[in-house]
Amino acid sequence: MYIYPNVIARLPVILAVVVLGACATTSTKRVQVDPALAAREAEVQKEMYVKTQLRDQKRVQAIAYPMLVNGAPICDKRTRPGSGFVFGNKHTWPKDFQDAAVSAFGVGEELQVLSVTPESPASRAGLKEGDLLLQFGDKVLPQGQKADSKSLNILQEKMKVGEPLAITANRDGETTQLSLTPDLVCDTLVVYTAGDEVNAYADGNAIYITSGMLRFVESDNELATVIGHEIAHNAMGHRDKKMTNFLLGSILDVAAAAYGVNTQSAFGNMAASAFSKDFEAEADYVGLYVMRRGGYSTLESPDFWRRMGVASPGSVSTKYSGTHPGTADRYIALDQVNIELSAKESQGQQLLPDPKK
Ligand SMILES: [Zn+2]
Repeated sequence: MYIYPNVIARLPVILAVVVLGACATTSTKRVQVDPALAAREAEVQKEMYVKTQLRDQKRVQAIAYPMLVNGAPICDKRTRPGSGFVFGNKHTWPKDFQDAAVSAFGVGEELQVLSVTPESPASRAGLKEGDLLLQFGDKVLPQGQKADSKSLNILQEKMKVGEPLAITANRDGETTQLSLTPDLVCDTLVVYTAGDEVNAYADGNAIYITSGMLRFVESDNELATVIGHEIAHNAMGHRDKKMTNFLLGSILDVAAAAYGVNTQSAFGNMAASAFSKDFEAEADYVGLYVMRRGGYSTLESPDFWRRMGVASPGSVSTKYSGTHPGTADRYIALDQVNIELSAKESQGQQLLPDPKK
């Protein structure tokens, strides 16, 4: 028989691999590990994880806030009152990470301020991380499980743009009264999500920035480029809010914001249902306006998208750039927008995107 010469020629090689595989074993000693020490080390690593998540979440929100406030005229009717702080208690974290959160942040059953965005209403009101929250206005806040989402609802009901809201807090054992006056901001929640993909999404209600994206960006201006682009998708109503409202309960609460919850499974579908190239081009155009209004330089933005285009094809080209305009088009268009923005600035014109002719 002379039918499969290739297979027959390779047989000895295949057998050799199988045999080697079967005998493979280590030849040096295995270092003995004390299980108690390993358990302690696992807790240390979890604590590092929750701290890193909160730190990264804070960075994303700090970069986003000036764009949400100053971009409000572009968001037009898609605006709401904004406060600029995140709170939670130990139940805000999943069970596995509660002990870590308790030792990292000292959280318990009461609601505690976890982060305060710089130059936001919360920071102007004098709220500080670690403050225990007792009341929003006349409403006494709950404790324990679900206290975070219930209190977020109370806060959203009480906040009116430009109207002071009394916040009663406990700081170092003493009751303190603070007054928070909400800003008018673009109606977009900013969520930092766990995930290695270099990715970002907008769903009409919120924008999601992955930890992979945070590792990819090389500066605040680059991160602002991504966030500005995603805010622009929501500002221009590219995705119908109603379509994604089903996610509100599980994802858009303070828990997600504080923990950087893994939303990858929920958003796999969203990434697949890409925006049209027209919407992408509009998000690029409007996104640079949102950035400039937020006080960021947009000069690095064309190079950022160029870098996205040439970076790791596996994670970037299929999942992200694949849904976005060709990088050559995009680079040239963004350069033109920068010229337009500089011209408007030097003529003292308002930074608002030009309508379709
Ligand atoms: Zn986009």
